[in-house]
Amino acid sequence: MAKKSYAVIGLGRFGTSVARRLHEAGQEVLGIDINEEKVEASDMYFTHAVIADSTEEKALNSVGIKNFDCVIVAIGNDIQSSILTVMLLKNLGVKNIIAKALGKRHGQVLESIGVEWIIYPERDMGERVANQLLSPNMLNY
Ligand code: ATP
Repeated sequence: MAKKSYAVIGLGRFGTSVARRLHEAGQEVLGIDINEEKVEASDMYFTHAVIADSTEEKALNSVGIKNFDCVIVAIGNDIQSSILTVMLLKNLGVKNIIAKALGKRHGQVLESIGVEWIIYPERDMGERVANQLLSPNMLNY
C-alpha cells in the first residue's frame, strides 16, 4: 500500500488506537490534542504529535492540515469542539474527513456538514461482535 498521510485530532482511546494501527502499518500520522498529557502519553504512535486546539483555524493551518490525505476527528464528548473542528476542516478544503459521533444527533449534524464517514464506536463495535458470533466459526458461543 502506498504511504499516505493522516492527521488524528483527539487522542483518547479511539483516536490513539486508529493512530497506532496506521503508524504500525508504516503510514505518516500526525497526532493533535489540546491536552499535553494525552500528547505525551501516546507520542510513540505518531510520526509527529502536537498540542493544539483544533477549533482554532490558526492551529490547523500551522500544521498544514489541508495537505493530509485524510483527517480523523476523534473528539466525542465535546460535541461543540467536534462540530467546530469539522466545519473548519471543511472550510480549509480538507477532502477526506472521518469523524466519531457519540450519538444519533451528533452524527446527523456531522452528516449535514458533509463528513464522508461517520463512526459510532459502540454501535459499530456491537454490530461487529454480533456478526462474529453469527459466523460459522463461532459455534461454541
Ligand atoms: P475516547 O472514548 O476515545 O477515549 P475520551 O473519552 O477521552 O475519548 P473525547 O471527549 O472523545 O474523550 O475526547 C477525545 C480527545 O479529544 C481528548 O483527549 C481531548 O483532550 C481531545 N480534545 C477535545 N477537544 C479538543 C480540541 N478542541 N482540540 C484538540 N483536542 C481536543
